[in-house]
Amino acid sequence: MTEALNSEQKLYEGKAKIIYATDDPEVLVTYFKDDATAFNAQKKGQIANKGAINCKVTTHLYGLLEKKGVSTHLIETTSDREMRVKRVDIVPIEVVVRNIAAGSLCKQTGIKLGTKLEPSLVEFYYKNDDLGDPLLTRDRIAAMALTSAQQLDRLTEKAQTVNRVLSEFFASCEITLVDFKLEFGTDKNGELLLADEISPDTCRLWDTTEPDERKRVMDKDRFRQDLGDVAEGYQAVLERILSQLS
Ligand code: UDP
Repeated sequence: MTEALNSEQKLYEGKAKIIYATDDPEVLVTYFKDDATAFNAQKKGQIANKGAINCKVTTHLYGLLEKKGVSTHLIETTSDREMRVKRVDIVPIEVVVRNIAAGSLCKQTGIKLGTKLEPSLVEFYYKNDDLGDPLLTRDRIAAMALTSAQQLDRLTEKAQTVNRVLSEFFASCEITLVDFKLEFGTDKNGELLLADEISPDTCRLWDTTEPDERKRVMDKDRFRQDLGDVAEGYQAVLERILSQLS
């Protein structure tokens, strides 16, 4: 069933998704767009069919995580690009898990691209575009009263569980899960749920079988770094997931 979406019901339009209200105040609809942005929206573009691919990838990965006991906000996927989700209060912290050094970690610390990180890093960033999503510390989170120390422990534990489940699954697809970003929210009962999306927009995914540093990239870095064949990278991720699940 597809919701009749109209602009009056539109609650929020982000860079990659639109959130709509429904007749049920506890239920929202997420619509996945083809728009792509990088570097805090300084670089903009479109990736053909990205919305539909990310909607499917998120659906499958959430399904896998639910089976392993990680609760998500997904109720049901209702069309190619739409999901009915539980309304949650988003925790204003982006949780990034890193298994291999890439991106901002390399830029900020000088750690060489591709260095294996053992144990994996769990990092927190402030969800605030005006400030450029700065890296947080536990003390900063406490000073800003963004969430409690106990909730931070829960976020960390859940992020580590997600990492175990997804690293293993992607490995079976011959994809290396380099790093990824998660968002969480609390529902009306105060339960912490995984929210937003998990897709090639929010993960670094390297083709394990491809030694070439530029060719192995299957995620948004193809767009960020102008590597070409962006949509093909996203599509290949979906196809490997589907063939592994079938
Ligand atoms: N990420 C994301 N949204 C953000 C920032 C990061 O989905 O606003 C993801 C990104 O795709 C990568 C991981 O989080 O998989 C780590 O990103 P990093 O801190 O290296 O930042 P980047 O260099 O990608 O801006």
